[in-house]
Amino acid sequence: MLFDISELAPTGRHLDLIVTVPAFRWGDAQVVSCAEARLAIDLRRTRRGIECAGRFSTEVSLCCSRCLARLAYPVEGRMRLFIRPGGTFGAQFEAMEEDDPDAVDLYPIEGTEIDLGELVREQVDLALPYRVVCDDVGRRCERAALEAVARDEADEEARRERWAKLYEFRTRLERGERDRGSE
Ligand SMILES: [Zn+2]
Repeated sequence: MLFDISELAPTGRHLDLIVTVPAFRWGDAQVVSCAEARLAIDLRRTRRGIECAGRFSTEVSLCCSRCLARLAYPVEGRMRLFIRPGGTFGAQFEAMEEDDPDAVDLYPIEGTEIDLGELVREQVDLALPYRVVCDDVGRRCERAALEAVARDEADEEARRERWAKLYEFRTRLERGERDRGSE
């Protein structure tokens, strides 16, 4: 979903939207898929760019880091960014010094259109913890799967192969479900 910030009114704008977030690669092996996200932000013109402040929430689908079971994991957070457009529209904004404390929040884009799905995707990626296990969503790891993982643990190659096969299988399964769902 694209939003053109060059059309922002001088008084700014509040957006409260449902945004489709693209799937993304997380860690070494897994691809995390995202449910539609709720995005509520205020956009305001400042001398350094368009300030974007608000909240996002969604639920991601990922695999438990221990037993590899699929988990639905809720993610939410706050964000504050300075969107810096490119081109002639961007030239009106003041450059930000590197030592400016707000410089870490600088979000440069090529033109004047911001991709809100991509914006949320990055925030979700940042908000995810280092690893997620069944316990985090009030479940117990699948015992048979844990034992299989433990057996493979000694053999790094077997473990990697197992992950790859599992992902292939689960991706195929999910794709099938999705295709059937859209018929
Ligand atoms: Zn687990």
